[in-house]
Amino acid sequence: MLEKEIRKVFSEHPDIIYGFTDISYCPYGEDYHSALVFAVPYGEQLTADDYTEERFEQGIQTARSRLETVVAEIEQILQKHQAKYWIPPVAQENEKELRALFSFKTAAAHAGIGWFGKNDVIITERYGPRVRLSALLIDERFTYGQPVTVGRCPENCTKCIDICPCKALKNQQWTIEKDRSEIIDYQKCNRMRSAFISKLGRKSACGLCLAVCPFGRAEPDQNMELTIRKMNERDLEPLHALLSDPDVMLFLEPPYSTEQTRSFLQAALSDAPPVYAVDQDGAFIGYVIYHTYDEDSMEIGWVLTPDQWGKGYASALTKQMIARARNEGKSLVIECDPGQEITKHIAVRHGFVWSGEENGLEIYRLS
Ligand code: SF4
Ligand code: SF4
Repeated sequence: MLEKEIRKVFSEHPDIIYGFTDISYCPYGEDYHSALVFAVPYGEQLTADDYTEERFEQGIQTARSRLETVVAEIEQILQKHQAKYWIPPVAQENEKELRALFSFKTAAAHAGIGWFGKNDVIITERYGPRVRLSALLIDERFTYGQPVTVGRCPENCTKCIDICPCKALKNQQWTIEKDRSEIIDYQKCNRMRSAFISKLGRKSACGLCLAVCPFGRAEPDQNMELTIRKMNERDLEPLHALLSDPDVMLFLEPPYSTEQTRSFLQAALSDAPPVYAVDQDGAFIGYVIYHTYDEDSMEIGWVLTPDQWGKGYASALTKQMIARARNEGKSLVIECDPGQEITKHIAVRHGFVWSGEENGLEIYRLS
């Protein structure tokens, strides 16, 4: 009941990414079983082209005030349920160690919200690193996210490293075992930002290493057209690579065996296929779900290969399927797991509204 009420809060803030993690990995695990971690997008998703320090700082402040609102909503629920909880401070303990008492970033990786980029910042698929994190430690158990344990920065990307004015970043791909000092010389970064105190009356927010990050540029081309076609036998191999990938299947089913993929393909080859292949420039990048949901509606969805995530393809496919359904005089439904934050965000942005839950899945209908 407690978990359901907390998830309900986030269903009313669909742009916020959130997750739960067991915190037995840290000393606070002795007093609190879990952390609820959430990531509020910066007010303005600046790029290197429109970056100024003032606008960047303003974006952080906007996120901070939203974050306080959400924390207050969650606190009300926790108090109602008389749950034991603690809100760890954001501030670092002291200027020497420059470490917070409880790392929101580490908790975010454990909760599956994102990974540490080569810029030592949590990178989310949806907003890249342009998020502000918060966490509450709660002495209750929840459904936990799947921890992310390795960085997903492209090996050849050095944008954040190149732009850092004090060369604090060490060009290291993160893994969960690595210490912060292997990724960043945090003292250097802090010294550079502290040098602005006399001028700004505060440390510089800097954030250049966030502004340049290509992750989170979710809408590159609103008019892109992907090819949606009936599957054929040649799709077996890329389809199996997709359906056997644990990251892809995280919210769906356990990864498929070859036999399960064959059965899936057989259904897709039938006269009334439930799914269709998606090609980009002639290459298979995943599939869309498009089949009858009820008398008035079709159900849609998309499953794409991880190297195509974050490019706006899911959004483009949603747009194409809305057009198709309208041509057929049908409305649309998207069903998703409560943890599928990106799916919910795309649904809401395209005019779907939350219409309830069934069998543990959230239902969004095109309004
Ligand atoms: S915040 Fe600025 S100084 Fe610090 S690592 Fe990023 S680019 Fe470098
Ligand atoms: S700029 Fe490139 S290397 Fe740096 S965090 Fe973003 S993806 Fe990773």
